[in-house]
Amino acid sequence: MQPRPTKKTLEPKRDRRALVDRDQHEISRFESLVGELSAAMARAPADEVDREIESWLGKICRALDLDRSAVYERDSPDQPVRATHTWVRPNFPAFPKNYEPEKLIQRSTQLVMSGETLVFADPSEIPADNPDTRRMVAKYGPKASAAIPMWAGGRVIGAASFGKFRSPRKWPPELLDQLAMAVRLFGSAIERKQAEIAIRAVRTELRVASRRNVMSELVASLSHEINQPLGAILSNLGGVARLLTQGNPQPAMALEAVNSAIEDTKRTADIVRRIRSMFKNQVEHKAPIGIGPLIGEVVKLTAGEASVRKIAVRIEVSPPGQRVIGDSIQLQQCVLNLVMNAFDAITEARSPRRDVVIKVAPEKIGWAAVCVCDSGGGIDPAVAKRLFEPFVTTKIDGMGLGLLVTRSIVESHGGRIWASPNPDQGSTFTFTLPMAERKRSSASRRMG
Ligand code: ADP
Repeated sequence: MQPRPTKKTLEPKRDRRALVDRDQHEISRFESLVGELSAAMARAPADEVDREIESWLGKICRALDLDRSAVYERDSPDQPVRATHTWVRPNFPAFPKNYEPEKLIQRSTQLVMSGETLVFADPSEIPADNPDTRRMVAKYGPKASAAIPMWAGGRVIGAASFGKFRSPRKWPPELLDQLAMAVRLFGSAIERKQAEIAIRAVRTELRVASRRNVMSELVASLSHEINQPLGAILSNLGGVARLLTQGNPQPAMALEAVNSAIEDTKRTADIVRRIRSMFKNQVEHKAPIGIGPLIGEVVKLTAGEASVRKIAVRIEVSPPGQRVIGDSIQLQQCVLNLVMNAFDAITEARSPRRDVVIKVAPEKIGWAAVCVCDSGGGIDPAVAKRLFEPFVTTKIDGMGLGLLVTRSIVESHGGRIWASPNPDQGSTFTFTLPMAERKRSSASRRMG
Protein backbone atom coordinates (compact mmCIF):
# COMPACT_ATOMS: atom_id res chain seq x y z
CA MET A 1 0.00 0.00 0.00
CA GLN A 2 1.27 3.42 -0.83
CA PRO A 3 0.74 6.06 1.83
CA ARG A 4 -1.75 8.80 1.26
CA PRO A 5 0.36 11.87 0.50
CA THR A 6 0.60 14.28 3.38
CA LYS A 7 2.02 17.73 3.04
CA LYS A 8 5.17 18.06 5.05
CA THR A 9 8.32 19.90 5.83
CA LEU A 10 8.00 23.00 3.71
CA GLU A 11 4.59 23.84 5.10
CA PRO A 12 4.76 23.33 8.84
CA LYS A 13 1.32 24.66 9.69
CA ARG A 14 -1.73 24.40 7.49
CA ASP A 15 -4.72 26.48 7.61
CA ARG A 16 -7.53 23.86 7.62
CA ARG A 17 -10.46 26.25 7.25
CA ALA A 18 -13.38 25.21 5.08
CA LEU A 19 -12.79 25.35 1.38
CA VAL A 20 -14.45 28.13 -0.48
CA ASP A 21 -16.77 27.28 -3.37
CA ARG A 22 -14.17 28.16 -5.96
CA ASP A 23 -11.76 25.61 -4.54
CA GLN A 24 -14.49 22.96 -4.48
CA HIS A 25 -15.33 23.66 -8.07
CA GLU A 26 -11.68 23.44 -9.10
CA ILE A 27 -11.26 20.15 -7.24
CA SER A 28 -14.29 18.46 -8.77
CA ARG A 29 -13.28 19.63 -12.26
CA PHE A 30 -9.78 18.34 -11.61
CA GLU A 31 -11.18 15.01 -10.40
CA SER A 32 -12.85 14.40 -13.74
CA LEU A 33 -9.65 15.42 -15.55
CA VAL A 34 -7.75 12.77 -13.56
CA GLY A 35 -10.44 10.26 -14.62
CA GLU A 36 -9.70 11.11 -18.26
CA LEU A 37 -5.96 10.90 -17.56
CA SER A 38 -6.43 7.41 -16.14
CA ALA A 39 -8.25 6.25 -19.29
CA ALA A 40 -5.66 7.89 -21.57
CA MET A 41 -2.73 6.28 -19.74
CA ALA A 42 -4.37 2.85 -19.86
CA ARG A 43 -4.87 3.22 -23.63
CA ALA A 44 -1.43 4.60 -24.47
CA PRO A 45 0.89 2.11 -26.21
CA ALA A 46 4.38 1.97 -24.67
CA ASP A 47 5.87 4.13 -27.44
CA GLU A 48 3.36 6.89 -26.78
CA VAL A 49 3.70 7.02 -22.98
CA ASP A 50 6.31 9.82 -22.91
CA ARG A 51 4.40 12.01 -25.32
CA GLU A 52 1.17 11.45 -23.36
CA ILE A 53 2.81 12.38 -20.06
CA GLU A 54 4.15 15.66 -21.47
CA SER A 55 0.79 16.52 -22.94
CA TRP A 56 -0.95 15.71 -19.64
CA LEU A 57 1.50 17.83 -17.66
CA GLY A 58 0.26 20.69 -19.85
CA LYS A 59 -3.40 19.81 -19.31
CA ILE A 60 -2.90 19.64 -15.54
CA CYS A 61 -1.08 22.98 -15.47
CA ARG A 62 -3.75 24.66 -17.56
CA ALA A 63 -6.55 23.20 -15.40
CA LEU A 64 -4.89 24.43 -12.20
CA ASP A 65 -3.57 27.69 -13.68
CA LEU A 66 0.06 26.64 -13.11
CA ASP A 67 3.10 27.65 -15.15
CA ARG A 68 5.66 24.88 -15.08
CA SER A 69 5.74 21.19 -14.38
CA ALA A 70 8.13 18.27 -14.68
CA VAL A 71 8.49 14.57 -14.04
CA TYR A 72 11.82 13.38 -12.61
CA GLU A 73 13.40 9.95 -12.67
CA ARG A 74 16.70 8.24 -12.07
CA ASP A 75 18.01 6.15 -15.00
CA SER A 76 19.36 3.69 -12.44
CA PRO A 77 19.76 3.77 -8.63
CA ASP A 78 23.28 5.24 -8.84
CA GLN A 79 22.37 7.91 -11.40
CA PRO A 80 21.29 11.47 -10.54
CA VAL A 81 17.62 12.45 -10.55
CA ARG A 82 16.86 14.31 -13.77
CA ALA A 83 13.86 15.89 -15.44
CA THR A 84 12.53 13.45 -18.04
CA HIS A 85 9.27 15.17 -19.01
CA THR A 86 8.56 18.89 -18.81
CA TRP A 87 5.88 21.42 -19.63
CA VAL A 88 6.25 25.20 -19.53
CA ARG A 89 3.50 27.73 -20.13
CA PRO A 90 4.06 29.48 -23.51
CA ASN A 91 6.21 32.60 -23.19
CA PHE A 92 7.65 31.43 -19.87
CA PRO A 93 11.39 30.72 -19.58
CA ALA A 94 12.17 27.20 -20.80
CA PHE A 95 13.02 24.48 -18.32
CA PRO A 96 16.78 24.52 -17.56
CA LYS A 97 18.62 22.04 -19.77
CA ASN A 98 20.07 18.97 -18.00
CA TYR A 99 18.48 20.14 -14.75
CA GLU A 100 19.57 17.97 -11.82
CA PRO A 101 17.54 19.01 -8.75
CA GLU A 102 19.92 17.23 -6.35
CA LYS A 103 22.59 19.81 -7.21
CA LEU A 104 20.38 22.78 -6.29
CA ILE A 105 17.94 21.49 -3.69
CA GLN A 106 19.47 18.33 -2.32
CA ARG A 107 17.44 18.02 0.88
CA SER A 108 14.05 18.59 -0.76
CA THR A 109 14.92 16.17 -3.57
CA GLN A 110 15.90 13.48 -1.09
CA LEU A 111 12.71 14.00 0.94
CA VAL A 112 10.46 13.71 -2.10
CA MET A 113 12.39 10.71 -3.44
CA SER A 114 11.88 9.05 -0.07
CA GLY A 115 8.11 9.46 -0.37
CA GLU A 116 7.23 12.87 1.10
CA THR A 117 5.06 15.45 -0.57
CA LEU A 118 6.47 18.97 -0.24
CA VAL A 119 4.35 22.02 -0.91
CA PHE A 120 4.39 25.72 -0.28
CA ALA A 121 1.56 28.12 -1.03
CA ASP A 122 3.88 31.10 -0.64
CA PRO A 123 7.71 31.30 -0.44
CA SER A 124 7.43 32.52 3.16
CA GLU A 125 6.21 29.01 4.11
CA ILE A 126 9.59 27.46 3.28
CA PRO A 127 11.20 26.60 6.61
CA ALA A 128 14.42 28.38 7.56
CA ASP A 129 16.18 25.03 7.99
CA ASN A 130 15.90 24.41 4.23
CA PRO A 131 18.12 27.26 2.99
CA ASP A 132 18.97 25.80 -0.41
CA THR A 133 15.30 25.58 -1.36
CA ARG A 134 14.80 29.16 -0.14
CA ARG A 135 17.75 30.25 -2.27
CA MET A 136 16.52 28.38 -5.33
CA VAL A 137 13.02 29.85 -4.99
CA ALA A 138 14.38 33.36 -4.50
CA LYS A 139 16.58 33.01 -7.58
CA TYR A 140 14.26 31.17 -9.99
CA GLY A 141 10.97 32.47 -8.69
CA PRO A 142 8.14 29.96 -8.20
CA LYS A 143 5.65 31.57 -5.84
CA ALA A 144 3.91 28.28 -5.09
CA SER A 145 5.01 24.72 -5.67
CA ALA A 146 4.00 21.11 -5.06
CA ALA A 147 6.55 18.29 -5.35
CA ILE A 148 4.99 14.85 -5.28
CA PRO A 149 6.69 11.44 -5.13
CA MET A 150 5.92 9.12 -8.05
CA TRP A 151 4.95 5.68 -6.77
CA ALA A 152 4.83 2.52 -8.88
CA GLY A 153 4.76 -1.09 -7.76
CA GLY A 154 5.05 -0.11 -4.07
CA ARG A 155 8.17 2.07 -4.41
CA VAL A 156 9.07 5.61 -5.37
CA ILE A 157 10.43 5.60 -8.91
CA GLY A 158 10.61 9.37 -9.35
CA ALA A 159 8.73 12.59 -8.64
CA ALA A 160 6.70 15.32 -10.26
CA SER A 161 6.70 19.04 -9.55
CA PHE A 162 4.06 21.64 -10.27
CA GLY A 163 4.86 25.35 -9.95
CA LYS A 164 3.08 28.66 -10.18
CA PHE A 165 5.34 31.62 -10.95
CA ARG A 166 2.83 34.46 -11.38
CA SER A 167 1.30 34.41 -7.90
CA PRO A 168 1.06 32.24 -4.78
CA ARG A 169 -1.65 29.57 -4.68
CA LYS A 170 -3.19 27.27 -2.10
CA TRP A 171 -3.00 23.48 -2.27
CA PRO A 172 -6.15 22.08 -0.61
CA PRO A 173 -5.55 18.50 0.63
CA GLU A 174 -8.22 17.08 -1.69
CA LEU A 175 -6.49 18.69 -4.65
CA LEU A 176 -3.16 17.24 -3.54
CA ASP A 177 -4.79 13.80 -3.34
CA GLN A 178 -5.89 14.13 -6.95
CA LEU A 179 -2.47 15.41 -8.05
CA ALA A 180 -0.86 12.45 -6.29
CA MET A 181 -3.25 10.14 -8.14
CA ALA A 182 -2.25 11.74 -11.46
CA VAL A 183 1.44 11.28 -10.64
CA ARG A 184 0.80 7.64 -9.69
CA LEU A 185 -0.84 7.13 -13.08
CA PHE A 186 2.31 8.54 -14.70
CA GLY A 187 4.40 6.15 -12.58
CA SER A 188 2.43 3.06 -13.63
CA ALA A 189 2.58 4.07 -17.29
CA ILE A 190 6.35 4.64 -17.08
CA GLU A 191 6.82 1.29 -15.39
CA ARG A 192 4.73 -0.45 -18.05
CA LYS A 193 6.78 1.27 -20.76
CA GLN A 194 10.05 0.19 -19.13
CA ALA A 195 8.84 -3.40 -18.79
CA GLU A 196 7.94 -3.44 -22.47
CA ILE A 197 11.33 -2.02 -23.44
CA ALA A 198 13.01 -4.73 -21.34
CA ILE A 199 10.92 -7.44 -23.02
CA ARG A 200 11.84 -6.07 -26.43
CA ALA A 201 15.52 -6.13 -25.49
CA VAL A 202 15.25 -9.77 -24.39
CA ARG A 203 13.41 -10.62 -27.59
CA THR A 204 16.16 -9.03 -29.68
CA GLU A 205 18.80 -10.82 -27.65
CA LEU A 206 16.99 -14.12 -28.20
CA ARG A 207 16.68 -13.47 -31.89
CA VAL A 208 20.40 -12.76 -32.08
CA ALA A 209 21.17 -15.86 -30.02
CA SER A 210 18.90 -17.89 -32.25
CA ARG A 211 20.60 -16.68 -35.38
CA ARG A 212 23.99 -17.40 -33.82
CA ASN A 213 22.90 -20.92 -32.90
CA VAL A 214 21.44 -21.61 -36.33
CA MET A 215 24.60 -20.26 -37.93
CA SER A 216 26.68 -22.38 -35.64
CA GLU A 217 24.77 -25.52 -36.62
CA LEU A 218 24.96 -24.62 -40.29
CA VAL A 219 28.69 -24.06 -40.14
CA ALA A 220 29.17 -27.27 -38.17
CA SER A 221 27.36 -29.37 -40.75
CA LEU A 222 28.90 -27.47 -43.67
CA SER A 223 32.40 -27.87 -42.36
CA HIS A 224 31.76 -31.56 -41.79
CA GLU A 225 30.47 -31.91 -45.36
CA ILE A 226 33.25 -29.89 -46.94
CA ASN A 227 36.16 -31.20 -44.96
CA GLN A 228 35.68 -34.78 -46.17
CA PRO A 229 35.99 -34.11 -49.92
CA LEU A 230 38.69 -31.55 -49.25
CA GLY A 231 40.71 -34.20 -47.45
CA ALA A 232 40.29 -36.51 -50.43
CA ILE A 233 41.33 -33.85 -52.95
CA LEU A 234 44.33 -33.09 -50.89
CA SER A 235 45.60 -36.65 -50.75
CA ASN A 236 44.74 -37.31 -54.43
CA LEU A 237 46.53 -34.24 -55.63
CA GLY A 238 49.48 -35.17 -53.51
CA GLY A 239 49.53 -38.53 -55.32
CA VAL A 240 49.36 -36.88 -58.76
CA ALA A 241 52.19 -34.59 -57.84
CA ARG A 242 54.28 -37.57 -56.91
CA LEU A 243 53.41 -39.34 -60.20
CA LEU A 244 54.24 -36.31 -62.26
CA THR A 245 57.64 -36.08 -60.72
CA GLN A 246 58.29 -39.61 -62.03
CA GLY A 247 58.35 -39.06 -65.79
CA ASN A 248 56.41 -35.95 -66.85
CA PRO A 249 58.28 -34.03 -69.58
CA GLN A 250 57.72 -30.74 -67.75
CA PRO A 251 57.62 -31.92 -64.24
CA ALA A 252 58.46 -28.50 -62.78
CA MET A 253 55.37 -26.83 -64.24
CA ALA A 254 53.08 -29.68 -63.37
CA LEU A 255 54.46 -29.75 -59.92
CA GLU A 256 53.95 -26.04 -59.49
CA ALA A 257 50.34 -26.24 -60.64
CA VAL A 258 49.57 -29.15 -58.43
CA ASN A 259 51.31 -27.59 -55.48
CA SER A 260 49.35 -24.41 -55.82
CA ALA A 261 46.16 -26.48 -55.99
CA ILE A 262 47.27 -28.10 -52.78
CA GLU A 263 47.86 -24.69 -51.26
CA ASP A 264 44.42 -23.48 -52.34
CA THR A 265 42.81 -26.53 -50.92
CA LYS A 266 44.63 -26.10 -47.67
CA ARG A 267 43.56 -22.49 -47.54
CA THR A 268 39.93 -23.45 -48.07
CA ALA A 269 40.15 -26.00 -45.31
CA ASP A 270 41.70 -23.34 -43.11
CA ILE A 271 38.82 -20.97 -43.69
CA VAL A 272 36.33 -23.61 -42.71
CA ARG A 273 38.37 -24.45 -39.61
CA ARG A 274 38.55 -20.80 -38.62
CA ILE A 275 34.80 -20.23 -38.99
CA ARG A 276 34.18 -23.33 -36.96
CA SER A 277 36.51 -22.36 -34.16
CA MET A 278 34.92 -18.90 -34.09
CA PHE A 279 31.61 -20.47 -33.12
CA LYS A 280 33.19 -23.01 -30.82
CA ASN A 281 34.67 -20.19 -28.77
CA GLN A 282 31.25 -18.65 -28.37
CA VAL A 283 31.06 -17.56 -24.75
CA GLU A 284 28.61 -19.30 -22.50
CA HIS A 285 27.52 -17.82 -19.21
CA LYS A 286 26.56 -20.79 -17.14
CA ALA A 287 25.21 -19.95 -13.69
CA PRO A 288 22.47 -21.11 -11.31
CA ILE A 289 19.11 -19.93 -12.71
CA GLY A 290 15.54 -20.21 -11.43
CA ILE A 291 13.97 -22.39 -14.10
CA GLY A 292 10.42 -21.23 -13.21
CA PRO A 293 11.16 -17.51 -13.82
CA LEU A 294 13.11 -18.40 -16.99
CA ILE A 295 10.09 -20.26 -18.38
CA GLY A 296 7.87 -17.40 -17.18
CA GLU A 297 9.94 -14.99 -19.30
CA VAL A 298 9.46 -17.13 -22.40
CA VAL A 299 5.72 -17.40 -21.72
CA LYS A 300 5.60 -13.61 -21.42
CA LEU A 301 7.48 -13.27 -24.72
CA THR A 302 5.06 -15.59 -26.48
CA ALA A 303 1.91 -14.25 -24.78
CA GLY A 304 0.96 -12.21 -27.87
CA GLU A 305 1.37 -15.22 -30.16
CA ALA A 306 -0.60 -17.44 -27.73
CA SER A 307 -3.46 -14.99 -27.56
CA VAL A 308 -3.65 -14.61 -31.35
CA ARG A 309 -3.74 -18.40 -31.68
CA LYS A 310 -6.15 -18.74 -28.71
CA ILE A 311 -3.83 -21.10 -26.86
CA ALA A 312 -3.71 -21.29 -23.05
CA VAL A 313 -0.25 -21.78 -21.55
CA ARG A 314 0.27 -23.13 -18.03
CA ILE A 315 3.49 -23.52 -16.03
CA GLU A 316 3.90 -26.13 -13.25
CA VAL A 317 7.20 -26.09 -11.39
CA SER A 318 7.75 -28.67 -8.68
CA PRO A 319 9.30 -28.07 -6.26
CA PRO A 320 8.80 -24.34 -6.74
CA GLY A 321 11.98 -22.27 -6.84
CA GLN A 322 13.98 -25.06 -8.46
CA ARG A 323 17.28 -23.85 -9.92
CA VAL A 324 19.38 -25.36 -12.67
CA ILE A 325 22.86 -24.64 -13.98
CA GLY A 326 22.87 -23.11 -17.42
CA ASP A 327 23.19 -20.23 -19.81
CA SER A 328 19.90 -18.41 -19.43
CA ILE A 329 19.75 -17.01 -22.98
CA GLN A 330 20.45 -20.40 -24.51
CA LEU A 331 17.97 -22.17 -22.27
CA GLN A 332 15.28 -19.57 -23.04
CA GLN A 333 16.00 -20.35 -26.67
CA CYS A 334 15.32 -24.06 -26.03
CA VAL A 335 12.03 -23.42 -24.26
CA LEU A 336 11.06 -20.88 -26.92
CA ASN A 337 11.72 -23.37 -29.74
CA LEU A 338 9.66 -26.08 -28.05
CA VAL A 339 6.81 -23.72 -27.15
CA MET A 340 6.64 -22.34 -30.71
CA ASN A 341 6.63 -25.91 -32.08
CA ALA A 342 3.81 -26.76 -29.65
CA PHE A 343 1.84 -23.72 -30.87
CA ASP A 344 2.44 -24.79 -34.48
CA ALA A 345 1.27 -28.34 -33.74
CA ILE A 346 -1.98 -27.08 -32.16
CA THR A 347 -2.60 -24.57 -34.96
CA GLU A 348 -1.90 -27.15 -37.65
CA ALA A 349 -4.20 -29.76 -36.04
CA ARG A 350 -7.01 -27.17 -35.58
CA SER A 351 -7.41 -28.84 -32.28
CA PRO A 352 -10.48 -27.81 -30.23
CA ARG A 353 -8.40 -28.32 -27.07
CA ARG A 354 -5.77 -25.64 -27.23
CA ASP A 355 -3.38 -25.82 -24.33
CA VAL A 356 0.31 -26.08 -23.67
CA VAL A 357 1.62 -27.13 -20.26
CA ILE A 358 5.25 -26.56 -19.36
CA LYS A 359 6.20 -28.75 -16.41
CA VAL A 360 9.41 -28.90 -14.41
CA ALA A 361 9.97 -31.85 -12.10
CA PRO A 362 12.96 -33.69 -10.64
CA GLU A 363 14.14 -36.36 -13.07
CA LYS A 364 16.77 -38.45 -11.35
CA ILE A 365 18.99 -37.31 -8.49
CA GLY A 366 20.58 -34.01 -9.37
CA TRP A 367 18.62 -33.52 -12.59
CA ALA A 368 15.48 -31.60 -13.50
CA ALA A 369 13.23 -32.43 -16.44
CA VAL A 370 11.48 -29.71 -18.40
CA CYS A 371 8.46 -31.01 -20.37
CA VAL A 372 6.52 -29.07 -22.98
CA CYS A 373 3.20 -30.87 -23.55
CA ASP A 374 0.83 -29.82 -26.28
CA SER A 375 -2.64 -30.78 -27.45
CA GLY A 376 -1.67 -30.81 -31.13
CA GLY A 377 -1.94 -33.57 -33.70
CA GLY A 378 1.14 -35.52 -32.57
CA ILE A 379 4.38 -36.19 -34.42
CA ASP A 380 4.14 -37.09 -38.09
CA PRO A 381 5.41 -40.72 -38.39
CA ALA A 382 7.29 -39.69 -41.55
CA VAL A 383 9.72 -37.59 -39.50
CA ALA A 384 9.43 -39.23 -36.08
CA LYS A 385 12.82 -40.96 -36.27
CA ARG A 386 14.67 -37.96 -37.71
CA LEU A 387 13.22 -35.10 -35.62
CA PHE A 388 16.60 -33.88 -34.39
CA GLU A 389 18.38 -34.09 -37.75
CA PRO A 390 19.12 -30.92 -39.74
CA PHE A 391 16.57 -29.68 -42.30
CA VAL A 392 13.86 -32.16 -41.28
CA THR A 393 10.56 -30.32 -41.36
CA THR A 394 6.89 -30.90 -42.16
CA LYS A 395 6.09 -27.17 -42.26
CA ILE A 396 5.80 -25.18 -45.48
CA ASP A 397 7.92 -22.39 -44.04
CA GLY A 398 9.94 -24.56 -41.65
CA MET A 399 13.73 -24.65 -41.58
CA GLY A 400 14.03 -27.91 -39.71
CA LEU A 401 16.75 -26.54 -37.47
CA GLY A 402 14.88 -25.66 -34.24
CA LEU A 403 15.07 -29.12 -32.66
CA LEU A 404 18.66 -29.58 -33.81
CA VAL A 405 19.66 -26.31 -32.13
CA THR A 406 17.65 -27.21 -29.03
CA ARG A 407 19.35 -30.58 -28.77
CA SER A 408 22.80 -29.10 -29.24
CA ILE A 409 22.15 -26.57 -26.42
CA VAL A 410 20.72 -29.23 -24.10
CA GLU A 411 23.66 -31.54 -24.76
CA SER A 412 26.17 -28.74 -24.18
CA HIS A 413 24.57 -28.49 -20.71
CA GLY A 414 25.05 -32.22 -20.19
CA GLY A 415 21.35 -33.01 -20.63
CA ARG A 416 19.23 -35.11 -22.98
CA ILE A 417 16.15 -34.37 -25.07
CA TRP A 418 13.44 -36.68 -26.40
CA ALA A 419 9.89 -36.61 -27.75
CA SER A 420 7.00 -38.87 -26.81
CA PRO A 421 3.33 -39.10 -27.74
CA ASN A 422 0.79 -38.13 -25.04
CA PRO A 423 -1.66 -40.85 -23.95
CA ASP A 424 -4.66 -38.73 -24.98
CA GLN A 425 -3.62 -36.15 -27.55
CA GLY A 426 -0.54 -34.33 -28.83
CA SER A 427 3.06 -34.85 -27.86
CA THR A 428 5.55 -33.98 -25.15
CA PHE A 429 9.12 -32.81 -25.66
CA THR A 430 11.27 -33.34 -22.56
CA PHE A 431 14.79 -32.20 -21.82
CA THR A 432 16.93 -32.57 -18.73
CA LEU A 433 19.24 -30.11 -17.01
CA PRO A 434 21.61 -30.35 -14.05
CA MET A 435 20.12 -28.93 -10.86
CA ALA A 436 22.02 -26.12 -9.14
CA GLU A 437 21.53 -27.36 -5.58
CA ARG A 438 22.07 -31.06 -5.90
CA LYS A 439 22.82 -31.68 -2.24
CA ARG A 440 20.20 -29.36 -0.88
CA SER A 441 17.44 -30.74 -3.09
CA SER A 442 18.14 -34.34 -2.09
CA ALA A 443 18.39 -33.27 1.57
CA SER A 444 15.08 -31.47 1.39
CA ARG A 445 13.55 -34.54 -0.21
CA ARG A 446 14.75 -36.58 2.76
CA MET A 447 13.35 -34.05 5.18
CA GLY A 448 10.01 -34.08 3.31
P1 ADP B 1 10.70 -26.52 -37.92
O1 ADP B 1 9.86 -26.05 -36.76
O2 ADP B 1 11.34 -25.43 -38.68
O3 ADP B 1 10.01 -27.51 -38.78
P2 ADP B 1 12.06 -28.10 -35.92
O4 ADP B 1 13.42 -28.71 -35.95
O5 ADP B 1 11.76 -27.24 -34.77
O6 ADP B 1 11.93 -27.30 -37.27
O7 ADP B 1 10.97 -29.25 -36.00
C1 ADP B 1 11.12 -30.29 -36.93
C2 ADP B 1 9.81 -31.01 -37.13
O8 ADP B 1 9.47 -31.73 -35.93
C3 ADP B 1 8.62 -30.11 -37.36
O9 ADP B 1 8.52 -29.71 -38.71
C4 ADP B 1 7.46 -31.03 -36.96
O10 ADP B 1 7.12 -31.92 -37.99
C5 ADP B 1 8.06 -31.84 -35.84
N1 ADP B 1 7.64 -31.32 -34.52
C6 ADP B 1 8.35 -30.52 -33.71
N2 ADP B 1 7.64 -30.23 -32.59
C7 ADP B 1 6.46 -30.86 -32.70
C8 ADP B 1 5.28 -30.98 -31.88
N3 ADP B 1 5.20 -30.33 -30.70
N4 ADP B 1 4.24 -31.75 -32.33
C9 ADP B 1 4.34 -32.39 -33.52
N5 ADP B 1 5.40 -32.33 -34.33
C10 ADP B 1 6.46 -31.58 -33.95
